Amino acid sequence: MEFLWDDDKQAAISLTFDDGMNSHLDTAIPLLDGHDLRGTFYITARGEDDGQKGLERFRPAFEAGHEIGNHSIHHWCSCAGVMNPDQRGLEYRTLEEVEAELVDADKRFKSVFPEVAHWSFCYPCYNTFVGKGKHRKSYVPIVAELFFTARAGGEMSNSINSPYHADLHCLNSWKCERRSAAELIGLVERTATQGGWSIFTFHGVGEGHLPVARPDFQELLAYLDAVRDRIWTAPVIEVAEYLHNKDWQLNKSVILPNPL
Ligand SMILES: [Zn+2]
Repeated sequence: MEFLWDDDKQAAISLTFDDGMNSHLDTAIPLLDGHDLRGTFYITARGEDDGQKGLERFRPAFEAGHEIGNHSIHHWCSCAGVMNPDQRGLEYRTLEEVEAELVDADKRFKSVFPEVAHWSFCYPCYNTFVGKGKHRKSYVPIVAELFFTARAGGEMSNSINSPYHADLHCLNSWKCERRSAAELIGLVERTATQGGWSIFTFHGVGEGHLPVARPDFQELLAYLDAVRDRIWTAPVIEVAEYLHNKDWQLNKSVILPNPL
């Protein structure tokens, strides 16, 4: 079998961590470093100081080779499941408001990390739209103007990204909270069988909201370390750059039936 990834790797895996949580600094990063693995940390640039202090907490991780990604300023989400009448969700936002928010966020991240050449973005709550019904619109095109790549969620049972067809500005990811080590390793091997790219989304590690248990997380990292010869674990931006630069010889005359 011919593999699509460099160095005969069977798959790519990215480990992402949302919301700049303490357990990322205290637990996830030391464990990743212990296995010589690098993750992607999506932080919000919130606060009176334009989020500067919150971003600077992650500078040592950045200098150790981890990726810092943009998770907006105010973390606007859908309010479709919120049981109060306040009109504060993306359903009531406009594309102009989202664009202003992301332009400002981009400036804040760049002022703290001027060395970063390419930025990745992470959609708060995996939501990629504004408005309701007839007025619902995707904000993916705005993200595509501002960022090199972006991680969303997964709308289907298979969230593995195809190296040929993935939308680099709306990448699928797997929600990993409360998954066991066996499940997580199973997803790694499923990705290898298909030759794709899986992005794992974590929040709390061993504590906090939407947690993965520390022993399960440790077992996943030990596994990824052990299989590094055949599975490429890398920050989102590095895999996105790899795919962006790849000149696939796609046969555009062949139209395949939809597998679903
Ligand atoms: Zn978030």
